[in-house]
Amino acid sequence: MENKEVLRKLPAVDEILRRQEIADLLVENPRNLVVEIIRDVLDRWRQVLLTGEVKEETGRAEITSLVAKEVIRETARRSRPSLRRVINATGVVLHTNLGRAVLARAARAAVEMVASGYCNLELDLQSGRRGSRYAHLEALLINLTGAEAAMVVNNNAAAVLLALSTLARGREVIVSRGQLVEIGGSFRIPEVMAQSGAILVEVGATNKTYPDDYRRAINERTALLLHVHTSNYRLVGFVREITVKELVALGKEYGLPVMSDLGSGFLVDLGQLGLPAEPTVQEIVSSGVDVVTFSGDKLLGGPQAGIIVGRRQFIEKMKKNPLTRAIRIDKFTAASLEATLRLYLEPAKALEQIPTLRMLTAGLAELEDRARKLAEQIRQKVGNKATIELLPVISRVGGGAMPTAELPSMAVSIRPGQIDSENLASILRNGEPAIMGRVQDERLLLDIRTILPGEEEILIQAITAAFQAVEEVEK
Ligand SMILES: *Cc1c(COP(=O)(O)O)cnc(C)c1O
Repeated sequence: MENKEVLRKLPAVDEILRRQEIADLLVENPRNLVVEIIRDVLDRWRQVLLTGEVKEETGRAEITSLVAKEVIRETARRSRPSLRRVINATGVVLHTNLGRAVLARAARAAVEMVASGYCNLELDLQSGRRGSRYAHLEALLINLTGAEAAMVVNNNAAAVLLALSTLARGREVIVSRGQLVEIGGSFRIPEVMAQSGAILVEVGATNKTYPDDYRRAINERTALLLHVHTSNYRLVGFVREITVKELVALGKEYGLPVMSDLGSGFLVDLGQLGLPAEPTVQEIVSSGVDVVTFSGDKLLGGPQAGIIVGRRQFIEKMKKNPLTRAIRIDKFTAASLEATLRLYLEPAKALEQIPTLRMLTAGLAELEDRARKLAEQIRQKVGNKATIELLPVISRVGGGAMPTAELPSMAVSIRPGQIDSENLASILRNGEPAIMGRVQDERLLLDIRTILPGEEEILIQAITAAFQAVEEVEK
């Protein structure tokens, strides 16, 4: 057929718009969007027709109906929100790409409360005068950590920036070469230091740093001794790193403030719960460190936030730094962090109600039991379309915390019969909600540890639907 003639099979935009199914689509979707999508789909079909990819006998009516179907599919795809719910079956508890910590019920309720009405974010209700947004958190943080004062900013990267800018702008900060970490997302200690206006002085070697290295570097320009928790890597072998205790002693010797960027930072002793023993924020504070910074959404299990605790004189100076205004927290963070911190007033409550802590401390027997039930239900639904088994796996803490900690867990392993496991993973990832597992050795693994209670039902439905869709395509 001639090119022109072939294009006669293509319907006009108006023709598509007049169809009943498209009229239905216009009830829920903006007309502009639908028209734009119709044009895009028609453009695609024009190419298809011109390149002769369509059989001669395929008629105009059939093509019109196919175009309409495609418009409906594409509208659904383009009009769904970009930020969507994901079921985390990766076994990485603090998955930064998946939004890190899942909030406790009390924290979610607090967000709902401040989102749906006004609140006293910066109002002292007792006096009726202007208050501080930090007031809601400061007393709690002082109580929980034993520090003299506290404030909270947008995230821990901002907390480090603010602390350095306030305490050491234009002056020198000494850091061990073994602690010049990159956290990811371009947070590198030397670069943050440069942004803050402080001057980095590196001491020691990558694997060995001694107090004498600091003594040699300290001079009249020195403003601060900084300790950075090497949260996302471990040096092993011929290693000698400076301890917080040694830094505090040096600080006393020379009359210099000491700061510790803890990264994760937690308020309950996780060592007792089978996780690597690392000092709590309380322990760091009581060891005499002047300023401590840590994240709200790592092991603490709260919203994204950078928490700063320490000596009142330094915290007060930080509150007055103009930078603070640019990195301040909003009402959602203030509300959900306060609710999370309140749970820590009773550590048993925190362990029971904060999802991050629950996931990290879940025992293997409990995980195996849940995985077995899930596997059985999936097996019933998919029948012989896939091999469903239990597989021991290792979950990770994530969020750059406790990189060497291996948490023994249990996964449901799905080995599909007709499609490959990457294909199944992609179907589930593009579903609603999205499901993120991990593909390994031709199987899709769903680690039960990070699947929230109640999500099993959604998983079963999604997997059943995925295998049904595959079957329909095969037919
Ligand atoms: C994670 C981390 C940060 C950054 O914290 P965010 O809350 O992600 O901004 C800074 N320092 C250390 C040591 C960390 O582990």
